[in-house]
Amino acid sequence: MADYDYDVLVIGSGPGGYVAAIRAAQLGLKTACAEGRETLGGTCLNVGCIPSKAMLHASEYFEAAAGGAMAAMGIKVKPELDLGTMHGQRKDAVKGLTGGIEFLFKKNKVDWLKGYAQFTSADTVEVAGKSVRAKNIIVATGSSVTPLPGVAVDNDKQIIVDSTGALELAKVPGHMVVIGGGVIGLELGSVWRRLGAKVTVVEFLDQILPGMDGDVRKEANKILKKQGMEFKLKTKVTKAEVKGKKAVLTLEPAAGGDAETLEADVVLVSIGRRPNTEGLGLDKAGLTLNQRGQIETDHDFRTSVPGVWAIGDVIPGPMLAHKAEDEGIACAENIAGLTGIVNHDVIPSVVYTWPEIAGVGLTEEQAKERGEVKVGKFPMLANSRAKTNHEPDGFVKVIADAKTDRVLGVWCIASVAGTMIAQAAQAMEFGATSEDIAYTCHAHPTHSEAIKEAAMAVTGKPIHI
Ligand code: FAD
Ligand code: NAD
Repeated sequence: MADYDYDVLVIGSGPGGYVAAIRAAQLGLKTACAEGRETLGGTCLNVGCIPSKAMLHASEYFEAAAGGAMAAMGIKVKPELDLGTMHGQRKDAVKGLTGGIEFLFKKNKVDWLKGYAQFTSADTVEVAGKSVRAKNIIVATGSSVTPLPGVAVDNDKQIIVDSTGALELAKVPGHMVVIGGGVIGLELGSVWRRLGAKVTVVEFLDQILPGMDGDVRKEANKILKKQGMEFKLKTKVTKAEVKGKKAVLTLEPAAGGDAETLEADVVLVSIGRRPNTEGLGLDKAGLTLNQRGQIETDHDFRTSVPGVWAIGDVIPGPMLAHKAEDEGIACAENIAGLTGIVNHDVIPSVVYTWPEIAGVGLTEEQAKERGEVKVGKFPMLANSRAKTNHEPDGFVKVIADAKTDRVLGVWCIASVAGTMIAQAAQAMEFGATSEDIAYTCHAHPTHSEAIKEAAMAVTGKPIHI
């Protein structure tokens, strides 16, 4: 290794970075990971996937108890909210899991370089005043909240907040306005609605959840509305002013028109995330960004600079933890001379609302642009387990190529859609046809039988509808 300090230096310890570092070390490479946060795990473990799911899970129980779902099964309870304890269990989950990564680093002999890294050349970075040279550098710096001009986030004041602030609210807001009807807005909006807030979602486009299948977007909107969430679609927020303990928002139709104002106790800004590249000294490494501020890579996660690799939210593709993880593993394997591959056509995505919303592969709209398709749909209302569990909302939709029957996309709205979608991803990874899924024996009674029935519906032969 001559004058290199490390074979691999990973910048950032999110799901992309920490997983890449562990795999590189497992493959016998001398590895370090630079992380400026006080704990490992990046956005996902500290302020993203994990704490949001801790609040979603707890608030789901609260609503089930408060909102009649339990009463329908003969369990009568009057829940009392102890928000302090709810936040406590969220913090415990984060502490346990971030500490777990520290343990895994020690176990695999990955050095944690504490501090923010900055390139000084293509193979050298400075971390906490120390120069570190590595044969391979993986940029895994992730992303942060996209700011909205005219709407200044101040998480400490708890009036205009981003997702990090919305996880930490000390009391349930009377009225919460969510700017952006995407994943974060719907998940965190659901948390606070379940705990008692009135929630209004302001979305620029004509429908929530851009990027998802059209039917799914419409049905999700209908279900969330039924739960009490209000939506102002085709609307933009142009300004938000804090007046005392409230915020006053100025709204305009997206296409232009008369402005209106809306008062809120808390405003959540969730209009997307942008890659973290500022202050990284990318110019010193000779790296440039694309128009969206991302680092471009080839299929092996090599950047245009030899020895510099990039993965996760900082490169193009969906900003998802499991995508970052798989890229981390593949990138480390490529560095070690193996063949690391990620199939970007089969990346599932899940919105953890109630019911959950999940999909993998093409939407019906995308599939139709590529050729003729056959679509099978099956409602959860006709699935025995969902019906018995008082979970009638949602459906499964299987989209297959009309000529070859190969499955191109699967979409589900169901209480456990996030778990169900895994079988669809695996089937698609193996090149399954809808017939393959239809003739696979599924345990009864399970929600997953709805996937089998939707696959049977592709050829017009579902049994239970
Ligand atoms: P990150 O997790 O962002 O980690 C990057 C790390 O790099 C950070 O810790 C940062 O401090 C560090 N860093 C940055 N610059 C430097 C530097 N110069 N030197 C050293 N360290 C640096 N995805 C899902 O798949 N499922 C979910 O349920 C989900 N829920 C989410 C909920 C919320 C509220 C949010 C905000 C996001 C959620 N996501 C979810 C998205 C997910 O968190 C990201 O896709 C994922 O964390 C990206 O991983 P990453 O490794 O690319 O970057
Ligand atoms: P998003 O891209 O999912 O949604 C942003 C929404 O804001 C879009 O619907 C967009 O049309 C809307 N918007 C943009 N500008 C607007 C404006 N000025 N006024 C009103 N609406 C506006 O972004 P997000 O919800 O902030 O989430 C960021 C990323 O984090 C996503 O890419 C997502 O993949 C990831 N994430 C994933 C999960 C999950 O997997 N369950 C959970 C949370 C976050």
